[in-house]
Amino acid sequence: MTCFNGGAESCVVCSSALKITAQETIHQLQSEIKFILEGLPFVRYFQGFDVVDHKGKVNERYCMHAYAQQSELDVSHLVEHKLAQQSLESKEIQCLEQNHGWLCFIPVSSADDVNALWVLEYEKGDSKPNLTNVELLLNVYQNCASHIGLQNTDALTGLENRQALSDRLSRMLKGHRRAKDGTDHALPSVCMLDIDFFKRVNDDYGHLYGDEVLLLFADLMKNVFRENDYLYRYGGEEFIVLLDTSTLEESLIALERFRSTVESYNFPQVKDITVSIGFVPMSMGELPSATLDKADKALYYSKQNGRNQVNSYQVLLDKGLLVEEKLSIDSELF
Ligand code: GH3
Ligand code: MG
Ligand code: MG
Repeated sequence: MTCFNGGAESCVVCSSALKITAQETIHQLQSEIKFILEGLPFVRYFQGFDVVDHKGKVNERYCMHAYAQQSELDVSHLVEHKLAQQSLESKEIQCLEQNHGWLCFIPVSSADDVNALWVLEYEKGDSKPNLTNVELLLNVYQNCASHIGLQNTDALTGLENRQALSDRLSRMLKGHRRAKDGTDHALPSVCMLDIDFFKRVNDDYGHLYGDEVLLLFADLMKNVFRENDYLYRYGGEEFIVLLDTSTLEESLIALERFRSTVESYNFPQVKDITVSIGFVPMSMGELPSATLDKADKALYYSKQNGRNQVNSYQVLLDKGLLVEEKLSIDSELF
């Protein structure tokens, strides 16, 4: 394409902006921006970090996950840099001159929150790097990320929705496949949570109180589970946690802690609410739908056997309380 104004580099910026807007998931967006920014003149490397802060504690140390990381370069220590923290807190770009170049920390916002940090290193030049093009691309990126974020977020609870879960599960399986030849990241447990007798809440107190319970329930999830666990509203009064644990015992402890927190929480008016839970570890080579189905079976067992309890699919199988269904040819194919 041609630009009305500016030289060859502006054209690169225009076409890059168009490529950014064409991405459909946050992950695709992150990969594209890495590709674009590393292709800009004088950029030595780019690294993006997610700012994970689902408890809304803005002043605590930010916990970050690297994305679009170059395999040959580990710059994860940069999140500890005081300028990284400063740029997140001030929401302004911070640059630092070093022996071999310039290091720039760029806060990335969505709505009013800073939710990512870009780190760019520029080759040494005579002056501070000109970040005009990067800022233009940042604006386009932020708009797209907000748009995709809204699509992936449940409006009532603020948790991620079913679409986001589906993206995350397939990415985890791909990522795990890649991690197999290097460091091995354990796959999480898929936990299905369903509020007990929720229909009664609506019937007895009305939908507004029902919504309030869902909101408070989601807040309890944010408080009890850890930053590395992923939380979703799966639909209605059903939630999913991707629990970052490596053993069945750890999963049981975390889920029991949540179950008893809900049981003892005093929900306004409604008072007593309980939750039933079923879980299973994700495994390689299994379709996400099959894993979800197993968690659902364990949840169903909890429902059928008194509710307000946690059950592991594997334990139920071992005890002969559930029978593993062999996949039919149809379900294998489709
Ligand atoms: P069980 O213990 O077997 O899970 O019983 P339950 O009553 O929780 O389950 P059931 O599936 O019979 O009812 C779920 C109810 O959740 C019915 C539906 O009206 C309500 N619900 C779903 N989404 C929402 C929502 O966004 N807000 C409110 N207030 N209610 C909702
Ligand atoms: Mg339900
Ligand atoms: Mg229910």
